[in-house]
Amino acid sequence: MLSLARLAQSAAAAAVLVTSALPALADGEVNVYTTREPGLIQPLLDSFTKETGIKANVIFVKEGLAERVATEGANSPADLLSVVDHGNLIELVDRGLTQPVKTEALEAAIPANLRDADGQWYALSMRARVIYASKDRVKDETLTYEDLADPRFKGKVCIRSGQHPYNTSLIAAMIERDGADATKTWLTDLKGNLARKAGGGDRDVARDILANLCDIGIANSYYVGLMRSGKGGPEQQEWANAIRVILPTFKDKAGTHVNVSGAAVAKNAPNKENAVKLLEFLASQEAQEIYAKANFEYPVRAGVAADPIIAELGTLTVDPTPLTAIANDRKQASELVDVVGFDG
Ligand code: FE
Repeated sequence: MLSLARLAQSAAAAAVLVTSALPALADGEVNVYTTREPGLIQPLLDSFTKETGIKANVIFVKEGLAERVATEGANSPADLLSVVDHGNLIELVDRGLTQPVKTEALEAAIPANLRDADGQWYALSMRARVIYASKDRVKDETLTYEDLADPRFKGKVCIRSGQHPYNTSLIAAMIERDGADATKTWLTDLKGNLARKAGGGDRDVARDILANLCDIGIANSYYVGLMRSGKGGPEQQEWANAIRVILPTFKDKAGTHVNVSGAAVAKNAPNKENAVKLLEFLASQEAQEIYAKANFEYPVRAGVAADPIIAELGTLTVDPTPLTAIANDRKQASELVDVVGFDG
């Protein structure tokens, strides 16, 4: 593999390497910066290389991906930037690190509400914010997010920190439809229903339901796949066995809140054409099936089935609120979490 780390170390070296080798590289390579897990990304890139002959180099950046690309500036070797959370995609755009790309294949594969209007980013997979409920102690077939603040769930709700992006996104979606005042009331009541301090991870909701610490909570859909499949070990299978999953909606019943993973072509991509090819590949039937199977995410491409464990949770109707509108309310959502002392 081309040593991307070394390439990125020195802006001057990168400039020389990239320009002097440009004809060969332009045909042959693509450089991906990603915050995603190697276990998910590598099989996708391997398939891409097998299909196109284009070599895919990848740098896994856990923290500070945007910062790194910004620092590298015009000499950045990054072609495709792949991240989780629409807030992170929009941050890349706001920092001027992306460029608009529009192709027929991309627009046909990815619904308009799951991509930037100018083609600055494209969602590639979805995760739903769902309800985990005790199989034994919760009888409801359907519930809204608002229902979790109902007095009948007093002392029965578990959830991770209100400041986690999964939750600020959900809270922002509520602000977008119901306004800040109604959302503040909901958050205050939800806080009053907590069985324990908001914290931990999403899977801990299932763990704590099994332990009879709580009856119900909010968590992401793909963790159900990770737990039920046994990928997380036998203990987590037991956690998953204690819960039933409800796909909630807001009280207007429009749909379930989702967040996305996605990708953007880097502003200074030295291999732009290959970046577009890779983006199109990631939206293809084949790649979308890998997202569904490897990570239990919902494909964005119509006609691609979710993993059977996820399909079993029910038919997902996506809340139609545009992700960009939700992103604009994220800051206010985070402030509300502090104002009501949700994590305290
Ligand atoms: Fe997660």
